[in-house]
Amino acid sequence: MLSLRNFDIKFVKGIGPERAKLLTSELGIHTAYDLLRLYPTSYIDRSRTYSIRSLHQATGEFPYLQIRGRFVSFNVLGEGASMRLIGLFTDGTATIDCVWFKGVREVRNRLAAGHEYVLFGKPSFFRETLQMTHPEVDPPERIDAGPKVRAVYPLTEKLRQRNLGSKVIHAAITNFLLTRKAPFAETLPPSIVKSQGLMGLDEAIRTIHVPVSSEALAQARKRFKFEELFYIQTDMLMRSRKRKLQVQGFIMPRIGQWFNDFYNTCLPFDLTGAQKRVIKEIRADIVSGRQMNRLVQGDVGSGKTLVALMAMLLAIDNGYQACLMAPTEILATQHFETISGLAAQIGLNVRLLTGSTRAKQRRVIDEGLRDGTIHILVGTHAVIEDKVVFKNLGLAVIDEQHRFGVAQRAKLWNKNTVPPHMLVMTATPIPRTLAMTVYGDLDVSVIDELPPGRKPVNTVLRFDEQRSQVQKGIRAQLDAGHQVYIVYPLVEENEKLDLKSVNEGFEAASELYAPYKVALVHGKMKPAEKDSNMQRFASGEASVLVATTVIEVGVNVPNATTMVIENAERFGLSQLHQLRGRVGRGADKSHCILMSKHQIGSDTRKRLELMTSTTDGFVIAEADMQMRGPGDIEGTMQSGLPFDLRIANLAQDGQIIELARRAAESLLDADPALQAPENRTFAHALSMMLNRATDWSRIS
Ligand code: ADP
Ligand code: MG
Repeated sequence: MLSLRNFDIKFVKGIGPERAKLLTSELGIHTAYDLLRLYPTSYIDRSRTYSIRSLHQATGEFPYLQIRGRFVSFNVLGEGASMRLIGLFTDGTATIDCVWFKGVREVRNRLAAGHEYVLFGKPSFFRETLQMTHPEVDPPERIDAGPKVRAVYPLTEKLRQRNLGSKVIHAAITNFLLTRKAPFAETLPPSIVKSQGLMGLDEAIRTIHVPVSSEALAQARKRFKFEELFYIQTDMLMRSRKRKLQVQGFIMPRIGQWFNDFYNTCLPFDLTGAQKRVIKEIRADIVSGRQMNRLVQGDVGSGKTLVALMAMLLAIDNGYQACLMAPTEILATQHFETISGLAAQIGLNVRLLTGSTRAKQRRVIDEGLRDGTIHILVGTHAVIEDKVVFKNLGLAVIDEQHRFGVAQRAKLWNKNTVPPHMLVMTATPIPRTLAMTVYGDLDVSVIDELPPGRKPVNTVLRFDEQRSQVQKGIRAQLDAGHQVYIVYPLVEENEKLDLKSVNEGFEAASELYAPYKVALVHGKMKPAEKDSNMQRFASGEASVLVATTVIEVGVNVPNATTMVIENAERFGLSQLHQLRGRVGRGADKSHCILMSKHQIGSDTRKRLELMTSTTDGFVIAEADMQMRGPGDIEGTMQSGLPFDLRIANLAQDGQIIELARRAAESLLDADPALQAPENRTFAHALSMMLNRATDWSRIS
């Protein structure tokens, strides 16, 4: 099978040089191997034929389907680029327009009115006319003789227009499989295939393209899902095992004066049990002699910042510097203020570095970092720039790590002769199976306890017609001396519209809630303006903050008791949870009001109602993952996956992830470097798989 990687796609019968070029540019298919690994997205049953009349009566989106009948007439309309061919087609029950924008002459010459054809495509209504664009057209004999179940491949619009549809691909693949009698040699370790009861590679390849039964198809799909996840788990485990063996870490055995003074004199409250436990886990890492790579997961408000600070104090006690990196300027500033506020009494030297730090200040910081007088540097991406040089960086903390890519984390590794310990914090709790994949080679700590006295945020769903009631409630909160957030969505596609609504929201709130002051913050503002407005709210001068999701993460204003989210239906669950986490930080009862249009679909309603029924971040994350596509999740995670998943689904294949993880562990326990003869083929296949991706092998 692996040798097919040298089999140029253009030599596959039925493809040829022209189509090869298209397949390469559109789908990244270069070789026969890639072609066989183009997994079908679905299958169609060609034993079923629809009547055109039934299509006229249908509503909603059509699937790809087949009709059978004759062309009544052909018409070429328009000229040049807008030339199109319309074929009026009937099966005796009704008619449908078939439309071609490309290859008009060729199609016109190939088809004849009056002959019987089978058409396959996706019908739609265009200006109330039923039509099918670029259908596949076959004589009935060919369909009747062909396979009844046919695979549908993930294609692009361009491929379809160029007549390179599923039919062509399927024909090329089946033909290739027919002529290749020799079985494809297994690439997974034989012991794994056996212990997992997997379908063999040869049978699985043939089955996934030409299924003989739905049971066989399920087995084939399971095998390929497992294979993908097994590659990933094996790779991650090998890397983390290797790193643990090879990458040295600074040894920080001392619990010294900084830590003790802080603990005894500055800490305004007792640590929660979970905070203590995580600090212990961190401590075990930093005395081990190996580099720490630890992820701390903790729901919003669980007190991660404090844990980070205590870890940094340990580093400082041992003569090292520490840094804390946050994804936004607001957040970095807030961390800076929290930390310098907490540690003021013990004389810790903490500095803030962001994109807007002035040159003069910057020089002071540069000097302090180089001569070691700065203990902690807090900042944004500015911290990882090459020109930021530490005397002796021992610990780097990254907050809200899903906002940072792997490459950015990688840069921190090079800030000292031995890579500093890494502590990564996230408030986006992710389900365990996903963590296994996305953070497969990080050690994970969980802060699963909120500081005492927190009252769950009362969450309600309200519709536009209840607005005046909501406004009364807000007014009452303001009169009681509390502060209020009003958040608007801001998504890229209709940035202008969204900007308009947040601005209008600001105007309206300023009028409605006078004399209370209202501040405005959104992503299109200059950082300085944003910061000063944010500051007005944080200091309590402004009572209402109208904002877009820039405040989503980390902002901490305990006196704010109400969070109003406009157009809540447009937010994802995790995002809503993050936003809600901005309130309920003080001792007072807090409220989160999800505002929505009245007409929302049942799925949306279900999502919003889930928010009103639970405040458990893990429950929400799990539900979010089920409801959104996995692609979405991979995107938001900026995942460290070594290659794109083609068939496995992180949201749905949790069970297979676990199997793959355990199988990878047992394989590597028996053969740590994959050098046993029976695992060679797999080792080779794995390295081929990974070679295509960027080499992040040193980085976790
Ligand atoms: P997050 O995990 O969301 O980053 P923070 O670190 O911002 O949470 O903490 C949220 C709030 O809880 C802060 O105001 C912080 O001072 C407070 N806090 C943290 N730990 C404790 C504790 N053990 N007891 C009481 N309050 C705490
Ligand atoms: Mg935080």
